[in-house]
Amino acid sequence: MSEIKEFDIHIVRCPTPWAIGPTNLYLIERDEVCLIDVGVKTEDSISSFFDGLKSSGIEREKIKKIFITHGHTDHYGFAEHLREETGAEVFVPEIEVPKVSDGFFERMSKMIKERRDFFTSMGISENLIPVIEFIPEHNAQLSEPLKKFTPLKWGERIDIGGENIIAIPLPGHTAGHAGYYLEKSKILFTGDHIMPLLQFNPLYDMTQSGEFDFHILKKYESSLDEILNIRPTIIAPGHRKILKDVEEVIKNRKNFIEKVRADVLEILNSSENPVSVFELAKKLNPSLQEWQILFSWTIAFCILKEYELKGLVFSEERGGVRYYGKV
Ligand SMILES: [Zn+2]
Repeated sequence: MSEIKEFDIHIVRCPTPWAIGPTNLYLIERDEVCLIDVGVKTEDSISSFFDGLKSSGIEREKIKKIFITHGHTDHYGFAEHLREETGAEVFVPEIEVPKVSDGFFERMSKMIKERRDFFTSMGISENLIPVIEFIPEHNAQLSEPLKKFTPLKWGERIDIGGENIIAIPLPGHTAGHAGYYLEKSKILFTGDHIMPLLQFNPLYDMTQSGEFDFHILKKYESSLDEILNIRPTIIAPGHRKILKDVEEVIKNRKNFIEKVRADVLEILNSSENPVSVFELAKKLNPSLQEWQILFSWTIAFCILKEYELKGLVFSEERGGVRYYGKV
């Protein structure tokens, strides 16, 4: 366990089964105690939390409020268990509510089957479809739906006993993702908005509307601007280390996206034939394995759609797959 000492914040790291590593859970000690995010529901993760809680010297009954950044299982997995143990009120950004509710993974599973054509049109090969189909089942095993919670609107301000916390709109990683800003301490909890590998995960969000929102990349970039406007002194992310050079962090993320935009044009220029989204994603990430591309191809899709709208890129369909080329 580590701390942001000067602000009475304890960081508890709960393991996940994924390469991203443990989730950071932040215990904020004020007149009451509140918690940002809750890890996956495995024995390991739950016992890590209670061990961390013990070494922080906080009694579990003191936890009064739990804030969820977004509806991924490594951020809300055992929230229901903890709510039952503590009686704390759980806040969920309102757009993320379906993801933490009962029956979500069944609906997701159904949607993936119904939208198989979409995955094929992206150029995702047959042998990867079972990997996509396993995602809901796998995540259902790592979480429990919330029975009781309070939906939170972006911009809402909640008193946590001596300090306000504000729900900041940070869509991009998911459609309804929220950051939480500790107003007096100037600390922004960014969930999965700031991660080493940028992800605009389509699978979860598709299950709400059935359509993939390719504007999600633009929304992600606007969320970066939102962080700059707030000017926090510390960024406390959902994974890995806390970050202090906020302007530098945001600049790097923006530069990275611009570089991908330039790389996409270069790849299209040098390709003899039009390429599918998935082929393009592989060329953008030559060091990743195919199944890993499944979690990072959406940036390529968003950029191709941007270029297509600008008339820089054309697309054509062949055998159910859409191919993109430079005009
Ligand atoms: Zn996430």
